[in-house]
Amino acid sequence: MQDLIGKAALVTGGSRGMGAAIARTLATRGADVAITYLNGMDKARAVVAEIRAYGRKALAIRADSADSAAIVAAVNEAAAGLSRLDILVNNAGIFPHGPLEEVTPEEIDRTLAIHARAVFLASQAALKHMGAGGRIVSIGSSLAWRVPSAGMTLYAMSKAALIGFTKGLARDVGVRGITVNVVDPGPIDTDMNPADGEAADVEKALTALGTYGRPEDVATLVAHLASEAGRNITGASLAIDGGVTA
Ligand code: NDP
Repeated sequence: MQDLIGKAALVTGGSRGMGAAIARTLATRGADVAITYLNGMDKARAVVAEIRAYGRKALAIRADSADSAAIVAAVNEAAAGLSRLDILVNNAGIFPHGPLEEVTPEEIDRTLAIHARAVFLASQAALKHMGAGGRIVSIGSSLAWRVPSAGMTLYAMSKAALIGFTKGLARDVGVRGITVNVVDPGPIDTDMNPADGEAADVEKALTALGTYGRPEDVATLVAHLASEAGRNITGASLAIDGGVTA
């Protein structure tokens, strides 16, 4: 399906995992794609090479989402490099977890900077480039809705922020024909949460389906929201969690 031809997208944290899958999927559906990365330069370059092989424009931008100036500059660089910007996918993320007593103010600041402040600033900057049909999709988490065990308060708090953000921004920009949504995955097989990792059996047991999801599952949902077919979905939180929150 080539329903994103003529569109340009920026995916934050596109060097690995879900971000890389989202970048590839948007490109196979016709979009030109920029990605940001932090440490994974080689992987980011490989994603760019793959997208170019599909005949699409692609670029990789090193930008720490915890750095306000860097994330805004990355949005503007993406829009300049691709000559437009129609789709922003706020995907970059980390997984702080552990005993409550050990969480430091610095860890709280960095987590909220990456998961909430960067999403706000990237969206604000992207909206300066977007016209009617623009799309903003953020990657949240099922942990914003259901926290099944201890040690994840900070992560859950940071991802829950995206629900209010999404509802507020959908109201701000709906009149411009731009949609804003958050996708809330459950366990997805990536470096962050490998399907053969220590916690995998416990996580599988939390789902209704008894399995992990794949990055491509999330990518397909994001591509739907980003396409013309997603035009009537806005302000929504969409679970893609194998039934974790059922
Ligand atoms: P991975 O750890 O596999 O990949 C994370 C990606 O984010 C990498 O491309 C990494 O770049 C990038 N990144 C991390 N920190 C920064 C930063 N400060 N600035 C810029 N880029 C950064 O994670 P997933 O693919 O699993 O996760 C993607 C999103 O999905 C995250 O927001 C995560 O919280 C969320 N999520 C994941 C779930 C799961 O089970 N996997 C479940 C629910 C939500 P680099 O390698 O270049 O440093």
